[in-house]
Amino acid sequence: MNDTPVIGVLALQGDVREHLTALAVADAVARPVRRPEELTEVDGLVIPGGESTTISKLAVLFGVMEPLRARVRDGLPVYGTCAGMIMLADKILDPRSGQETVGGIDMIVRRNAFGRQNESFEAAVEVEGVAGAPVEGVFIRAPWVESVGAGVEVLAEHGGHIVAVRQGNALATSFHPELTGDHRVHALFVDMVRAERAAESL
Ligand code: GLN
Repeated sequence: MNDTPVIGVLALQGDVREHLTALAVADAVARPVRRPEELTEVDGLVIPGGESTTISKLAVLFGVMEPLRARVRDGLPVYGTCAGMIMLADKILDPRSGQETVGGIDMIVRRNAFGRQNESFEAAVEVEGVAGAPVEGVFIRAPWVESVGAGVEVLAEHGGHIVAVRQGNALATSFHPELTGDHRVHALFVDMVRAERAAESL
């Protein structure tokens, strides 16, 4: 078995290119995913930052919402940043009308939670599972996690709010490691994808 995992980036809207680059640096084969057929060909998937309402509507329109839900339920490794975190939440506190999520993480998220004055900022964030110096967290109209269920691991907090979580094969951050050139969080996700592939091939 070729050891290099193939990881898709959901390419409906958002910062797709930055994730493709970060994944390639973290030793994965990275490719954009728009259609249900493309989803069947990947070992893992990133849902990028952008606008969660738009990504949600386009996912329904392109027919990938349902297949994606099914694959996530089956254990497909997924990583969502910012809008992608919102897409992985089982529940949004303040959804726009018609806004759906893929779900997969037993959490409630609040969109645009860090407030108007502070819509964008950077902060050093210690992330569980990422060795070395704190990660530079880039927060852009970022959500935070209001609450998590018992099966969810909290990996990072900022200002008393949860900003990184993992449940099984699903990982989510409020911030955007793909914008910093520090690809340790992507490397953590690539390791999750490798571990899942190894478990499946036993
Ligand atoms: N505020 C955006 C949303 O609700 C997320 C912003 C981002 O991804 N940078 O989707």
